[in-house]
Amino acid sequence: MAKKQAEFIWFNGNIMPWQEATVHVMTHAIHYGSSVFEGVRAYHTPHKGTCIFRLQEHTQRLLDSAKIYRMTIPYTAEQIDQATKDIIKKNNLKSAYIRPIAFYGDIGMGLQVPFGQETEMVIAAFEWGAYLGEEGLQNGVDAGITSWNRLAANTMPTGAKAGGNYLSSQLISMEARRHGYQEGIALDINGYLSEGAGENLFIMRNGVISTPPRTAAILPGITRDTVITLLAEMGYTVVEENIPREALYLADEILMCGTAAEVTPVRSVDGIKVGNGSRGPITEKVQSAFFGLFDGTTEDKWGWLTPVE
Ligand code: PMP
Repeated sequence: MAKKQAEFIWFNGNIMPWQEATVHVMTHAIHYGSSVFEGVRAYHTPHKGTCIFRLQEHTQRLLDSAKIYRMTIPYTAEQIDQATKDIIKKNNLKSAYIRPIAFYGDIGMGLQVPFGQETEMVIAAFEWGAYLGEEGLQNGVDAGITSWNRLAANTMPTGAKAGGNYLSSQLISMEARRHGYQEGIALDINGYLSEGAGENLFIMRNGVISTPPRTAAILPGITRDTVITLLAEMGYTVVEENIPREALYLADEILMCGTAAEVTPVRSVDGIKVGNGSRGPITEKVQSAFFGLFDGTTEDKWGWLTPVE
């Protein structure tokens, strides 16, 4: 039995008790990784109540991931957005991590089978604190470069957030844990910086901020886009360019970002201190602008907050 995380779950259009939302062992996605999913967060804000962060962009990316794999999700973006609000309300959550997932169910074995079939769909919402720890948010995490490369272009698309891709992420984060790091950082097959197991990366040196481009086997994160936008507001430009490994060792500051990890400083890479080994000034500014969106101190000029009510 899965660990109970919330009372209710949204499954194929119905809200049902968490324990009842089960699938058959012959579910196609279990055998072949044929699922696409999202990670979304909702925050409790003092000015607008519970708000989902960048819901439309997450739903669009879910539909884009499905399109790449020629999957038919039998719900519109509006229906998915509404269902997301409904499940947060039904569970009485003030803040939440939300996991929409579309997958091929018990449709039979074989790789040709999915064509023309509709996916099943689940939306789970539950409480989940800081992914890399509260202490990591303040003081930074220790990261290590993994011996695994990210996927090569034209093998599996890293721009799709598909279940199967996360075998790569698991190898990266398991190796990091085994070596005593909180998170792993992967290079692409050309040896350039790609991303963390579930986070995009920004590095700063002498006031220049750079991040790997979409061609470096990354998932182009919605938090990455948020960070670029918030930095632009502060007058900083971000350069999207191939970054060599040694730039990690010479950086003044490094930050990791993602829906789960939010905006987290990296304080060491492979045991080498980043800057003075604590959260740097630009990272601190980005963090306060980011979390300010949720306490109302950063004006939401972009309409990123969708109130649940
Ligand atoms: N890269 C990977 C591999 C991820 O799993 C995630 C988390 N979805 C990210 C980057 C960050 O993406 P986002 O900011 O959209 O959550």
